[in-house]
Amino acid sequence: MNNTYKNFFIFFVVLMIAYSFGSFFAQRNVASRQKEEYTYQQFEEDLNAKKVKSIEVSQNEEVPTGQVTVSMSDGEKESFYVTDVNEVIQDAKTYEITYKVDNVNRTGGILTGVLPYCIVLLIIMGFMFVMMNRAAGGGGGNKMMNFGKSRARMQDPNVKKVRFDQVAGLHEEKEELKEIVDFLKNPGKFIEVGARIPKGVLLVGPPGTGKTLLAKAVAGEANVPFFSISGSDFVEMFVGVGASRVRDLFEEAKKNSPCIIFIDEIDAVARRRGTGLGGGHDEREQTLNQLLVEMDGFGVNEGIIVMAATNRVDILDPAILRPGRFDRKVAVGSPDVKGREEILRVHVQGKPLAEDVDLHQIARTTPGFSGADLENLMNEAAILAARNDSHFIRMEDVRKAFIKVGIGTEKKSRLVPELERKITAYHESGHAILFHVLPDVGPVYTVSIIPTGVGAAGYTMPLPENDNVFNTKGRMLQDIKVGMGGRIAEELIFDDITTGASQDIKSVTNTARDMITKYGMSENLGFINYEVDADEVFLGRDLGHTKQFSEEVANQIDKEVKKIVDECYADAKRIIEEHMDVLHACAALLLEKERINREEFEALFDKE
Ligand code: ADP
Ligand code: MG
Ligand code: ZN
Repeated sequence: MNNTYKNFFIFFVVLMIAYSFGSFFAQRNVASRQKEEYTYQQFEEDLNAKKVKSIEVSQNEEVPTGQVTVSMSDGEKESFYVTDVNEVIQDAKTYEITYKVDNVNRTGGILTGVLPYCIVLLIIMGFMFVMMNRAAGGGGGNKMMNFGKSRARMQDPNVKKVRFDQVAGLHEEKEELKEIVDFLKNPGKFIEVGARIPKGVLLVGPPGTGKTLLAKAVAGEANVPFFSISGSDFVEMFVGVGASRVRDLFEEAKKNSPCIIFIDEIDAVARRRGTGLGGGHDEREQTLNQLLVEMDGFGVNEGIIVMAATNRVDILDPAILRPGRFDRKVAVGSPDVKGREEILRVHVQGKPLAEDVDLHQIARTTPGFSGADLENLMNEAAILAARNDSHFIRMEDVRKAFIKVGIGTEKKSRLVPELERKITAYHESGHAILFHVLPDVGPVYTVSIIPTGVGAAGYTMPLPENDNVFNTKGRMLQDIKVGMGGRIAEELIFDDITTGASQDIKSVTNTARDMITKYGMSENLGFINYEVDADEVFLGRDLGHTKQFSEEVANQIDKEVKKIVDECYADAKRIIEEHMDVLHACAALLLEKERINREEFEALFDKE
């Protein structure tokens, strides 16, 4: 807390208390001046003297205090305050005079006298408290004082909450996260059956695909507070600041549980340890350690769920993926045609469209666009429409916006020409068929022709099966064949071949070479390591000595590599030729849907 604020606050409280008491006594003085003559003692004396005819008691609400009005035998009336009306009633009974107990009376009495002032005081204190929290949370005031404080922003509860229906596409992702929502809403149900709720959920996917949006939607659906912080906020100039921010963040969250902590761009803190320059104990590592300690520290089922987003899961420290930490991983992929159309539908809400705007058509021509790109596209179109004084968006505006955003982000979301899509579709189908047919690789999990952010036109992903400790010769040969499938399919269908297979060729060559030089799997070269250690070359350690074998052996290695590659090529080609129907069907399906899953792919083989 900021010192200036603190002093001001204390001063203010003292002022208010002084005011309250002052006002109270001022009023009491007025009251007592009027009723000076009459007291409880006087009343007792009058009772003894049998001067009292009857009394009327007005008790205050919920407390025994009250006002007593005394009617004398001579017609005079007096009144006084008592701390316990029961005493007076008892007196009335003893002296056998008539008494009447009134309905509850609100005025008078010590408590009711001060009460309004207390309420005013409380309201003002509450107001001050809110103001101060704002100042501290918003980083306002004196910045130096806020160093160790977390920069997390708790989402203003008055801001309209994000709901799942605002997140378009991503059906499977939402399905997975519904479980988390369910837990936050109704933890008892899970605890009852002894379930361990995941503490951390890692959202992995390319930028702009809706990871932040999804995390917000989980908080919105569960109706819990949402603390968000970016990984880079933890990394500061001064050592220890990041760690103390983490501590602060979790403390804050515990006070507000159940809640969600969202760490955006977690790779900024959670990069693999020991890779930073300048020794093993840099600031980032301390921060990461603190994060791990906090995540281990709060108990299971405490109602805090840590969500984090990254597009670089490969560089994350494996420690954060252990059970009890980020043990759920949700892959948030680039949207396919259908997903893009759904996203467009979300973002044209509130934007009047001309009749010629065809969202399906826009979706078809935007492969590789992320949700954020599409949002941007429609926004640009709306701006263009407004600039033309049009009251609705026409297809023409969208087309112009297309050029504008398309050029701006050319590399990332390039518009893929139809022929290129077709080639990619056949290429990926070729890989997929081999994955499916060969016994030790696959099964195929996804085939996609949605460009990935990293330059690939598509991908074929096998289901990651068991973690094998070592590879076998058979499996390595099959890997080589799978790698060739893309190019072979291109060759079989098109007159020309593309450069798209360069990555495949590289990995095929590496595998084949490793088999011979590293693993002794050749026919003639035997049980000898012929590896050229790339690291040593880089360090310049044995410069000139890196090759520890003769030219003759080098030639022989090349020959063996070529032999493996040629044999695999022939075999792979034979397999694909046997399944030409599947190749065509798979490519067609890919062109239509852009991404197909295991069931859809295997159904093609069933038809055959
Ligand atoms: P990420 O965190 O993955 O980089 P964001 O969640 O920040 O992406 O997305 C940025 C914006 O893009 C969102 O605010 C939203 O307008 C739009 N967007 C992205 N994905 C979707 C989606 N699936 N549905 C609707 N809008 C989306
Ligand atoms: Mg984000
Ligand atoms: Zn390929």
